[in-house]
This record gives sequence, C-alpha cells and structure tokens, in this order.
Amino acid sequence: MTRVAILGAGPAGLAAAEAALAAGAQVTVLDEGARPGGQFWRHRPGLTDPRMQHGVRRFEQLQSALAGAEVHSGAAVWSVEPGEPGEPGEVGGAVVLRAAVGPADGARREAVVVEADALVIATGAHDLALPIPGWTLPGVTTAGAAQALAKRDGVSVGRRTLVAGAGPFLLPVAQSLALVGSTVVGVHEASRIGALAGGWLPKPWQLLGKAGELAQYAGALARHRIPYRVGSGVVRVLGDERVEGAVVAQLDADWRPRPGTERVIECDAVALGHGFVPRLEAAIMLGCEVAGDRRGRFVVVDDGQRTTRPQVFAAGEVTGIGGADAALAEGAIAGYRAAGVAQDDQRLHAALRVRDRMRRFARRLETAHGIRPGWTAWLDDDTIVCRCEAVAKRAIVERAEVPLRAMRLATRAGLGPCQARTCGRAVEAIVSEARASAAGVAAAGETVDGSSSSAQGGDVGFDRRPLLAPVRLGELGGSDRPTNGEN
Ligand SMILES: Cc1cc2nc3c(=O)[nH]c(=O)nc-3n(C[C@H](O)[C@H](O)[C@H](O)COP(=O)(O)OP(=O)(O)OC[C@H]3O[C@@H](n4cnc5c(N)ncnc54)[C@H](O)[C@@H]3O)c2cc1C
Repeated sequence: MTRVAILGAGPAGLAAAEAALAAGAQVTVLDEGARPGGQFWRHRPGLTDPRMQHGVRRFEQLQSALAGAEVHSGAAVWSVEPGEPGEPGEVGGAVVLRAAVGPADGARREAVVVEADALVIATGAHDLALPIPGWTLPGVTTAGAAQALAKRDGVSVGRRTLVAGAGPFLLPVAQSLALVGSTVVGVHEASRIGALAGGWLPKPWQLLGKAGELAQYAGALARHRIPYRVGSGVVRVLGDERVEGAVVAQLDADWRPRPGTERVIECDAVALGHGFVPRLEAAIMLGCEVAGDRRGRFVVVDDGQRTTRPQVFAAGEVTGIGGADAALAEGAIAGYRAAGVAQDDQRLHAALRVRDRMRRFARRLETAHGIRPGWTAWLDDDTIVCRCEAVAKRAIVERAEVPLRAMRLATRAGLGPCQARTCGRAVEAIVSEARASAAGVAAAGETVDGSSSSAQGGDVGFDRRPLLAPVRLGELGGSDRPTNGEN
C-alpha cells in the first residue's frame, strides 16, 4: 500500500488526504495547529456564524474522511528529507518527516518520524503586512490575525478598527470585525480603480460564482456603514503607547502617497493585509524548484501538482495564492496523484476543471491587487522593517550591497524567531530599490519579490536558509525509527 504523508491540514491538505484515502493509500497527516482546518476553517465547535464561517459542511465531510488516516495535530514538522533507498526487496521511503508533537513551547514534546513513499506539501501561506511608520505600536495587527481572532474566539482587535492593504480578503475581515462588535472606520484598498478594472472587468461571466460572494460583502459593508475607499492607504500609524489614529493618503497607481492628500482617522486598532506569502520552507529544504514572478515565489508544479522532486507534490497557497476553492481542488489532484492514480483518471476531472478556473481567478487577483513598487515611499529611514530584531530601513539600505543570503548576519534582519517570514519580502524590496538607485536605474523588481528584479544581479532570495519550525537542541536527537503505521 502506498504510504502518503501530508504536511498541512488546511483545505489543500485535507482534500489531499480525502483523495489519497479514496485511492486506497495509507495516509499520515501532520499539522502544527491544535486541530485540522488550516487558516480557513478556524471556528470553534458551536461558534459557526455562517456569515463568518464558510463551507462548514465541506469541512465536516473532510474531517470524517480523516477517520481513515493517522493524524498528528500540534505536530511542528521541523525537517523533511529525501528517504534512504530501501533494502533489497523492500520499498524505501521517498521522504522522511520529523516532527515535535506538543505545545509549541512545551519542554517534552514527543518525537514523531514519518516515512512515506510520497509527500504532499500543503503548508499554506502567511499573511503579509508591509511595514509602515508606527506599525510596531500595540493595536496594529495583520488582517489575518484580526480575522483569526474574530472567527475562532469571537473577539475584536479593537473598538474602532481601520482595515487597510490590498485584496478582496479585506472584505471578510471587515465583515467579521463588525460582526464581533468593532466599529470599522474604513476599508482602504491601495489599488486604484484602473488596476481594479483591469483585473476584474474582463470576461465577467467567468466570475459568476464569485460575484455572489462579492455582493454579500458589499451588502455587509453597507449594512454596517463601513466606508470603502480605493487608491487609499495607511501611511503612518499614530500613538505613543498604543494606536490612537492613522494617517491615510491617496495613492498613485504605483502606491506612492499623493502629497497633500493625507488625513487623520481616529481609531484604536489597525488591521493590515497586503496579500499572502507562501510557506516555502519544506519545499526549499527538499530541493523542489521554486520560481519567482510578479506575484512572488511559489513551488513549481506540473499539471498533476507534482514538484520537480520525485514523489513530492504540492497544493494550495504554496503553489499560488488562489483562495480556499483553489486549495481544495489542487489538494484533491495532489492526493490522487500521490496515491498513484493516473492523471487522466476520471476521478481527477472535476478538480482539474475547478483548479484551472481558480488559476484564472488568481491571475485576476494579481492584476487587480498585486503589490506595486511605490509602497516603499511611505517608509522613513527609522521605520522598523524587521520587528523581531528591531532593524530599521536605514540599516538595510546602508548594507544593500551585501548578498541577500548574508544580509541576516550583516543587519540582523530576519534572524529573529520568525526567521524573515514577516520582513523577508520587504527587505528584498528595499535592497532592490537601494541597489537600483545606487546604479542610477529604476528598480526593476515590480513587487516585493526580489527574485524577479534585475537589480539583484542574480542574488538569491532572502528565504534560502529555511528553518521549518523552531526546535530545541534536545529534540534534534529524537527517534530515528518511523512511527507511522504503528497503530
Ligand atoms: C492568518 C490567515 C487567515 C486567513 N483567513 C481566511 C479567511 O477567513 N477566509 C478566506 O477565504 N481565506 C483566508 N485566508 C487565506 C487562506 O489561507 C486560504 O484561502 C486557504 O486556507 C489556503 O489553504 P491551504 O490549505 O493552502 O493553506 P492553510 O489553510 O494555510 O493550511 C496550511 C497548514 O499547514 C500547516 N503547516 C505549515 N507549515 C507547517 C509545519 N512546518 N509543520 C506543521 N504544520 C505546518 C499550518 O499549520 C496550516 O494548518 C487566511 C490566511 C491567513 C494567513
């Protein structure tokens, strides 16, 4: 029986598990979360407001399918390696995963070692908040964190919350905040009307499914009297001890603030969301090809979600930011393929159709809301870029000539607990811009993603020294014996 390991139990990982089980594989699922569901399904049992929690029925189906799998929740996978070739006459594992199971900062976590013939990487994404002067003040959160608190715990990050950034994700966040009792003082979308029209207006019939969702959010904003502004962003957060207000300004097409348009909005919380950054560490550790374009860097996969490493598949936000429906479809394809089902098998057909439709949706998303290079104009030299190590923009610009892989040691940016997950893309953009300005050319990279920038001169990205999950030295010596399939 093919042993399939699935790293991540969000929509992509759960759909992969369901498909691999249906195809007869022995499935092991690992996720560091306390329970399956990923970023999308966070509701507590009993707290299922249908306006905030979508697709709960589908989640319940996926959860029941998991009964046939070995599931490790609270399992921080810190290493993924190619497996040893098997003994003569035996099947060798294609991959070996090592995890520490237990509370993240607990002292005695259990060592779990999973050996598998195929792996599906479904590690999802982090939400991205670009640095802004004042963003380290208490009361500033990412839009994803505000959403998670509202959905999981029914609490709001503030009494008067300003939501800002780019992308349709700001809409459910504003709705959830209003539903848990916050006054949302505005949603500020950085993209201007031209970019939004370019992304969303062509071939409107392709958006039929999504139009209903959009209308529902528009209705919610109207009901809660939440102003929605386009071509507008927070350029400074105000306050001494905590957030007391925010300066918003109109932005040009490249997201540069337009002089003279600033105004102050009183609020006690700011939720920032400028998109998502895929969690690539596992794919990079295994040597899977990761490619960059205007949207950032993602794991390269073929039509069957297969990466460039044998028997390693990837699905969901690690392969492109397309939302939960895309993750579900990709997960199903990856699960079937990892279990040995042929690409032309009819069980894949429905998922392939949805996946292709959602890929078109992802391209629209990027055209309409993709990060524009002018955002760096709202930073001043003292703006903290790396929050863990308190590294300001000035320090990064001063060392911009240092190769990116050495930047952590040169500036300490990215050396802290988050290992550049929060600041990595911003550091790359600042370095790219500083190098371009030193060379007297415009920064070629149009997004925060450094790898697409000729100003980098072939420099590798900031994320090439991955640490999958924080792990204690004592945990490194855990068991070498595979633990999957023991029960
Ligand atoms: C904070 C946040 C909130 C979001 N809220 C919403 C929302 O309300 N509505 C919406 O439409 N979209 C939301 N999104 C977007 C959402 O991520 C996708 O639409 C969808 O969840 C993607 O599914 P996925 O399976 O690819 O990834 P995810 O749902 O992110 O699942 C990935 C899983 O991998 C696990 N994982 C990653 N690395 C490791 C490791 N080393 N060891 C063990 N486990 C690991 C994570 O714990 C996670 O459970 C949110 C995103 C973020 C970042």
